Amino acid sequence: MKAFSILLLLLSTSLYSKEVSVELPLNSYKELISRGLKYKVQNFGKKVELRLKEAELNSLSAALHAHTGRCGGFVTKSVEKNKKKKLLKGWDDNRYTVDYRVTKETLVKPLLENVQESRLLSLMAWFSSYKTRYYSSPEGIKAMEDLAKNWSKLTENRSDVKVELIDHKEWKQKSVVLTIKGSTDENIIVGGHGDSINSDDEGPHSHSPGLDDNASGIAVITEIIRVLIESNYKPHHNLQFMAFAAEEVGLRGSMDISKRYDEKVKKIRGMLNIDGTNFKGSEDINLSIISDETDKEQNQFLGTLVDKYLGVPWGYDKCNYACSDHYSFSYRNFRSSFIYESRVAEENPRIHTADDTLDVMNGSAAHSVIFAKLGLSYVLELDK
Ligand SMILES: [Zn+2]
Ligand SMILES: [Zn+2]
Repeated sequence: MKAFSILLLLLSTSLYSKEVSVELPLNSYKELISRGLKYKVQNFGKKVELRLKEAELNSLSAALHAHTGRCGGFVTKSVEKNKKKKLLKGWDDNRYTVDYRVTKETLVKPLLENVQESRLLSLMAWFSSYKTRYYSSPEGIKAMEDLAKNWSKLTENRSDVKVELIDHKEWKQKSVVLTIKGSTDENIIVGGHGDSINSDDEGPHSHSPGLDDNASGIAVITEIIRVLIESNYKPHHNLQFMAFAAEEVGLRGSMDISKRYDEKVKKIRGMLNIDGTNFKGSEDINLSIISDETDKEQNQFLGTLVDKYLGVPWGYDKCNYACSDHYSFSYRNFRSSFIYESRVAEENPRIHTADDTLDVMNGSAAHSVIFAKLGLSYVLELDK
């Protein structure tokens, strides 16, 4: 998740000219202009759409970080959704009826006991050991390739599992998608971003360990995969686990992937985004379920799962902007949710800095255990 909103959403790109379209609130645009920055304006209104070269993205994003801080209210919902209805192919069909009854206690409870904190810790240590996972850095590209190898190794004895590196054409860092094949055409997706950023010194060369943001989420997803595979679970629907590229520069990997699902009219039964799991920032609750730009029914289902299987306090909270990869799926009217490690206002102050490391976590992954168990119960209870 982004501590300070990048405030940009890449709407469309032209492969040949490498131009990108970026949308941001009018106030943010005015702030940039007042500081002498100039951009080509495509559409002007409450939201401003800019056209710029891909190479200019870093400077735009850095300028926004420096000058505007958090964005309050990123999209005007009604306008945005009317526009989406016209633009997107599968709009009406993407959100179909799902059975959210919680009925698989005898299966779920024993599997939750198999989640291991020590494994979460070592996965986080490994994935935060790259100098950076910035989307355009050699280390960031390699980290995702190494993650694909890790997931392939975990599942090497299963012929019904495939691991793919997803090519995004416009930048080199790939996303990773692991599929456990079911017997229907529906997909259950658990994902989180694999890239990292240092907003004090943005670019491919600065130190950006991204432990909490989001090596923790990748560790949680990897542990869910391990528990499912070791229990020899054979799913009814396709289970898909995703590590998204280039989230920190405008949700680019997940936007590209959700677009492909929409265009191919592929079914998504539900999408769960995991981004930031190891920092207990709120004293009185263990997690937030983000209520804006997410699916209300699926959020209620997640709340029921927390109460039934975890018994820890939680609450609803809002991001008020397109704060992480769940947005890319709700943007296309798929059911998506985002579970977060604290209230948004009480998030980890070290994310997006060189200090987002395991050293400051007291050698504990206890908070991430909650997210691994919740993700696991989500997959199992939705898979019917
Ligand atoms: Zn993040
Ligand atoms: Zn972030």
